[in-house]
Amino acid sequence: MTTTFDQLGLSQPVLQALDLKGYSNPTPIQAQAIPPVLEGRDLLGIAQTGTGKTAAFMLPSIDRLREADNQTPFKSCRMLVLAPTRELAGQIAQSAKDYGAMAGMRVHSIVGGTSVNKDRNKLHRGTDILVATPGRLLDLIDQKAFNLSKVEILVLDEADQMLDLGFIHALRRISQLVPEDRQTLFFSATMPKQIKDLVGQYCHDPVTVSVTPAATTAERIDQYLFMVQQDEKQSLLELILSGRHPIPGKIERVLVFTRTKHGADRVVKKLAQRNLPANAIHGNKSQPQRQRALDEFRRGKTPILVATDVAARGIDIPGVSHVINYELPNVPEQYVHRIGRTARAGADGIAIAFCAEDERAYLKDINRQTDAEFDRLPLPDNFRAVVEGVGPTKREAPNQRQKKPKVIPRGESGPRQSKPKAKHPARKGRPAGAGQGKPGGGRGRGGQGGNRNRSGGAARG
Ligand code: AMP
Repeated sequence: MTTTFDQLGLSQPVLQALDLKGYSNPTPIQAQAIPPVLEGRDLLGIAQTGTGKTAAFMLPSIDRLREADNQTPFKSCRMLVLAPTRELAGQIAQSAKDYGAMAGMRVHSIVGGTSVNKDRNKLHRGTDILVATPGRLLDLIDQKAFNLSKVEILVLDEADQMLDLGFIHALRRISQLVPEDRQTLFFSATMPKQIKDLVGQYCHDPVTVSVTPAATTAERIDQYLFMVQQDEKQSLLELILSGRHPIPGKIERVLVFTRTKHGADRVVKKLAQRNLPANAIHGNKSQPQRQRALDEFRRGKTPILVATDVAARGIDIPGVSHVINYELPNVPEQYVHRIGRTARAGADGIAIAFCAEDERAYLKDINRQTDAEFDRLPLPDNFRAVVEGVGPTKREAPNQRQKKPKVIPRGESGPRQSKPKAKHPARKGRPAGAGQGKPGGGRGRGGQGGNRNRSGGAARG
């Protein structure tokens, strides 16, 4: 029998807030984490974003705060949530406001890249729940504008990402500043040794809850692969986004990942030249720019977002239909995080990887560590000619060659889908698309084979 929220021991105000959110049943991590957190136990949660972990720590914490009923402390907070990125901090704060709406919780968030004076002013009277990135928090502490002496509950969210971003010293410092007897809830998608050490430093006898083994690819995501030359990737992306080379699934919102900030900007610029408006989000963008890009993406106004790993980490946007790995990440865990942006909260999702010759080793690592099964997709007909600007794709009539491609407008269907596809069918040994008719209809590389070494077959390893 499925567990319900009522059975987990949450209070009425929290249950009412969940009703308003429209959640009917707890996700596995919520079902497992909420009871021990309500009892006051420390928690180690091994979970990716998209599993519902924010509510898993926020809901019982709100009840713990309500029960203790302490005053909102001056220049301090009762619950501190540390998050690696500004976007994630913003989202957690929003969730805290939603979940705590009926419990009268005061919630604030502070992140780098915004006015420190404003933060100082808004935290002067203290807050119940503070969501912060570690750097900005320490800035305020160093200025004596804030202290951690009243923290009852401490949450570290996406601890592995905080380490990747170089926050290790900040985290060590913060662990010295919080009261000994606070409760700690520690979340990480992966458990390398450094994280285990941190857990030892932060938690006392934690209950461990693991919803998916570290670095296991989300099951509801169908994964596809194009083997494509580096210099062909932009053309392939344009053909896909303009609907001229169909891919599985209805395209609604597409998140494109590049490895570098510069790469993200370049892709956006070239898409704009093709009348395919996109926004970039990465570390060199200001906070308002990042926020605007996310808002436009969320609303469907600009449904193409090109991101680097760090910037996109933890982004929660319902309805990401496709994640395109324009460049493969060199760390397999990063791949898991990327594709986890789609298929959130029960939805299905599609991930597409562009793999060039020199990225085969990354693909091999991803296969080995995540058990991912990729269905290989064929490149468009006459593709090399399109890349070199001398020919249309087969689907394009010659007199359309100079026309601007179609932008995917909001709400409109993407390219027509190929035959519905079984989840991860075993298709090793032949190129995907073979026998699928259109889209692509076979590899159709007319005369491009030669020295290009594009062996067919599913690309495992
Ligand atoms: P998270 O892993 O915390 O980032 O949550 C991922 C998404 O799942 C968010 O959009 C939440 O609003 C949503 N969510 C969390 N818990 C539930 C639930 N019990 N039922 C439905 N959606 C949920």
